[in-house]
Amino acid sequence: MNKEIIYLDNAASAPVNPSALAAAVELFGSVGNPSSVHTEGRKAALAIKRAREQCAAAIGAEPSEIIFTSGGTESDNMAVKCAAYSGKKRHIVTTAIEHAAVLNSCKALSGFEISYVPPDENGFVSAEKIKKAVRTDTALVSVMAANNEIGTFQPIAEIGEFCCNREIPFHTDAVQAIGNIPINVREIKADLLSCSAHKIGGIPGCGFLYARNGLKLVPLIDGGGQEYGLRSGTENAPAIAAMGIAIENNCKNIPQKSAKISQMRDRLIDRLKKIPDSILLGSQNNRLCGNVCFSFAGISGESLVLNLDLMGVRASSGSACISNTGGYSHVLRALNLPEKWISGSLRLSISEHNTPEEIEKAASAVEKAVDLLRSAY
Ligand code: PLP
Repeated sequence: MNKEIIYLDNAASAPVNPSALAAAVELFGSVGNPSSVHTEGRKAALAIKRAREQCAAAIGAEPSEIIFTSGGTESDNMAVKCAAYSGKKRHIVTTAIEHAAVLNSCKALSGFEISYVPPDENGFVSAEKIKKAVRTDTALVSVMAANNEIGTFQPIAEIGEFCCNREIPFHTDAVQAIGNIPINVREIKADLLSCSAHKIGGIPGCGFLYARNGLKLVPLIDGGGQEYGLRSGTENAPAIAAMGIAIENNCKNIPQKSAKISQMRDRLIDRLKKIPDSILLGSQNNRLCGNVCFSFAGISGESLVLNLDLMGVRASSGSACISNTGGYSHVLRALNLPEKWISGSLRLSISEHNTPEEIEKAASAVEKAVDLLRSAY
């Protein structure tokens, strides 16, 4: 990355890990379909096998429980749709602050009733409310591990335990959480978990779904029977190999890494809180170590992001996906905030590659940009 640029959009896409990239480049240079039995085919198959082991080890699963996909969106679609259509029950419990990949998968189901549990004003969904929403005909509970916009962690271990005791499949979208907190699928009693490569130092267009051995699922994509028959299609061996290396690296030394990142997050929060008419969105405690999400009254988040871009600071307003579709974030709406806080949101997401000096410069840039925009109105 250009030295002048301060990249604070790591929750949208993180920089690619150099060893992961090297592994992908090597495989791109040697054609070989992993289903072919010749030397190059076996090389690709071996790279996939190794990556399956790395992904499984990172979340405490078995390699046979990892299904490679085209990313977090596909993993969420598979979790919701494959689990929903695998039985006769027709009710799903989820939250109002899930990523669109989960919300729109639920919406697309035919003949299902969906309960959307709202968060409190700090961005937390209570496990009690999830438990109350569950019915005898609940086919799936899907609750994200950490929110992509406001960074709040959800009580997935408590929800997992509850679902396990009632034999209700439990899915968690861990796209933002992996690499930031240790996740073990046995400890949180998850039946399904989604991960995306480009959030953890891998290449975009790749991800995986963890599906507990023995869980009943119907495939979404039919074809040649790859990925245990659950996701047919020739595997993207270079991206999968890269994801294996990236997840292994990203899940090392999580406590040390997150302590370093949290310090920068808290410093940035302290500085931005001093800007008049600003609020931190989501609780400061129990939130992703790199997530800073603020709203500034009277300005548009998009204009703020564009002004910061001109100053060399890369950020997002709400979430990158929301920026594509226009309209205000469903997450901010679900927090029940007064209208003045809805349109001026700014998400700055910090990684271990950022420095305290960059954080100071970014804070000064935000102060300047907010001043500039406010004086223009
Ligand atoms: N789930 C969450 C929580 C996300 O933040 C994202 C991406 O921003 C996704 C799912 C979708 O992942 P992908 O971009 O790999 O499709």
